[in-house]
Amino acid sequence: MDAGGGLSGLGARSTFGGIVIGPILGVETSCDETSAAVLGPGGEILGLVIHSQDVHHVYGGIVPELAARDHLRRITLVVDAALGQADVKRKELAAVAVTAAPGLIGALLVGYTWARAQAFGLGIPLIPVHHMEAHLFGPVLENPEAVPPFVALLVSGGHTLLVWVPVWGRYELIGETRDDAVGEAFDKVGKLLGLPYPGGPEIEALARQGDPLRFAFPRPMLKRSQSEDDPDFFDFSFSGLKTAVAQTVAPLEENGTLESERMHLAAGFQEAAVDVLVGKTLRAVRAVGCTRVLVGGGVSANKFLRDRLVHALGRDGTLFYSSPRLAMDNGAMVARAGQFRADRLQESVQEVSARAPIPGSTAWQGSLRSGGAGPRRPTSIKEGH
Ligand code: ADP
Ligand code: MG
Repeated sequence: MDAGGGLSGLGARSTFGGIVIGPILGVETSCDETSAAVLGPGGEILGLVIHSQDVHHVYGGIVPELAARDHLRRITLVVDAALGQADVKRKELAAVAVTAAPGLIGALLVGYTWARAQAFGLGIPLIPVHHMEAHLFGPVLENPEAVPPFVALLVSGGHTLLVWVPVWGRYELIGETRDDAVGEAFDKVGKLLGLPYPGGPEIEALARQGDPLRFAFPRPMLKRSQSEDDPDFFDFSFSGLKTAVAQTVAPLEENGTLESERMHLAAGFQEAAVDVLVGKTLRAVRAVGCTRVLVGGGVSANKFLRDRLVHALGRDGTLFYSSPRLAMDNGAMVARAGQFRADRLQESVQEVSARAPIPGSTAWQGSLRSGGAGPRRPTSIKEGH
């Protein structure tokens, strides 16, 4: 898909780089949220609707074909509702931004094709957006100070990434998961504990009553890797932690004591997962020398994680995050990233794709300079979620 030329004629240059255009429509359908938002030229949210699909609940996980069909059923309703909230007519829109990658391919295609047709019909530009760049822009929607430089911890159902962001549009990958994303681990552990999907919020709530020390779970890739030269130093792994919970749950289930231990299992798992996330983030903060941290993605809705990050960063540190509604997948962050990409269309995502690196991503330059963790490919963000 050729995204076309820039939009320089449409607005004034803003302080965060990029041009300010609005009202802009943002459309998100990469996974299991159908969402649309309308932002004003200053990035203010005029309307936002998020429909979280419940068709997957009976399966305990996302069924890609059902996701795509449900997006198709809802998208017009969701966009109309967002425009209605904003009191903006279609013909008043300046541009349409849409998540083009990464995600479930069928789900992405529904939103992208719909948005492209809208933009074509209205004679306005289409701005394809990378989902993880959109998550980086989430906190800016509520806090104009959430701007680079910062270390970003992006944690969702499909991704676990540590990125150094010196300026918008430059993303140096410090670490990522080798296997499961942390949100996926929350969801799978939720399933093991018999909790409804998605498991993240359920585990957080249950863990409040539990004793995190009752069950000792591993902190994968935290203890053993002690130096930047170790390739495990900044990376994550959550599949072993998930297996450790499964192996603890099985005998409890057999002897009928699982019910009374569930809150302790939830607390023990959450503590282990958060220890790893916080530990690795602190490593990145020290390596980069910047105590400004941004946390984004659905798992950043977890207050226990955010409190631990704030505590670990100390008085001199700053943590930027979104309210839970804007931490999950939503059209507002897509529209905001779209405003940034408006005059950088040639560098943005060029086609609908299940996997794609964040535009402007490279290996972490620090690791190249120090000869440490070593050159790594720019992240090719994975399919799903
Ligand atoms: P994706 O882009 O992968 O769909 P989202 O950004 O929508 O992801 O985040 C969904 C993930 O966030 C799910 O795995 C869910 O369990 C997790 N999540 C949501 N709220 C919480 C919470 N309070 N604690 C932990 N995980 C959470
Ligand atoms: Mg989602």
